[in-house]
Amino acid sequence: MRAMALVTALLIAAVAAAPAQAASAEPPPPHVFADPGQRPAHGTAKAAPGATGGGLESRILPIVHNCSPSLRIRAQEMTAAQLAATCASLANQDAYFHSVVKDSGPVANDLNTTLEVDVFNSSADYKAYARKIYGIDTNNGGMYLEGDPSAPGNQPRFICYERTDVSPGWQIWNLNHEYTHYLDGRYDLYGDFGDSQTTPTVWWGEGIAEYVSYSYRGVPYTNAIAEAGKHTYALRTLFDTTYANSDVNRTYNWGYLAARYMIERHPADVATVLGHYRTGDWAAARSFLTSLDYESDWNAWLTAVAAGA
Ligand SMILES: [Zn+2]
Repeated sequence: MRAMALVTALLIAAVAAAPAQAASAEPPPPHVFADPGQRPAHGTAKAAPGATGGGLESRILPIVHNCSPSLRIRAQEMTAAQLAATCASLANQDAYFHSVVKDSGPVANDLNTTLEVDVFNSSADYKAYARKIYGIDTNNGGMYLEGDPSAPGNQPRFICYERTDVSPGWQIWNLNHEYTHYLDGRYDLYGDFGDSQTTPTVWWGEGIAEYVSYSYRGVPYTNAIAEAGKHTYALRTLFDTTYANSDVNRTYNWGYLAARYMIERHPADVATVLGHYRTGDWAAARSFLTSLDYESDWNAWLTAVAAGA
């Protein structure tokens, strides 16, 4: 695994601090998708998922609920109804996701067959315990730790928390966004997080997470729709988005717009790009994307989206 690029702290998603007790023998940090309070984001984690928690994880997250053989929830405090609703929301997202990305199965060497979802009772609980258990930064809205999907025994997990201060009431914040990262990592992106950052892929990674999250739930993405009317970015510019050169707005709102535009207007191109992403041919995907010139149609589409399309 190549050296992990330092992923920036967009505003909130701070890069994980160097492990206080890091030994030089400590393995490279596994992949993390960190998602800030209001919007999702990215970071790097320092420890193998679950490697540092020990008994604390079991004590703080005593509820273990298997939705299915491939999906397990560990929670601090969830009712039977909340567990059932969460299982259903994720299980039903599978078919939706596959209908969008049109994959033909997991990418090669991906052994991430079973996902764990770790749910803290509140943002405060997440801040209090998630660093101690998982070694992650907690000034964000949740995090996906893919780990090394080619390693036998690797446990992918996303770490998230409940909110009750948002409409329509109780929800696990960024639930469907984080789950999309898991699916995208398994079905669209070869290798681990570091591999996928070989070239700029944020427009797709965060864009598809936002696109699936909003469209699957049938929730209008009002912030992104408002942004569309501003015509801030050329599509070509968005293909250059990295965690280092963008802010929350460009990463999430404009990632969503770029991904949605390509999915709606150029599905054959999406198939081409994903074909390269799935085999880890990042340079070929990059070369293809940078050869496209849809700016005139892109601007017309943005105008239509801002008008409610
Ligand atoms: Zn994300």
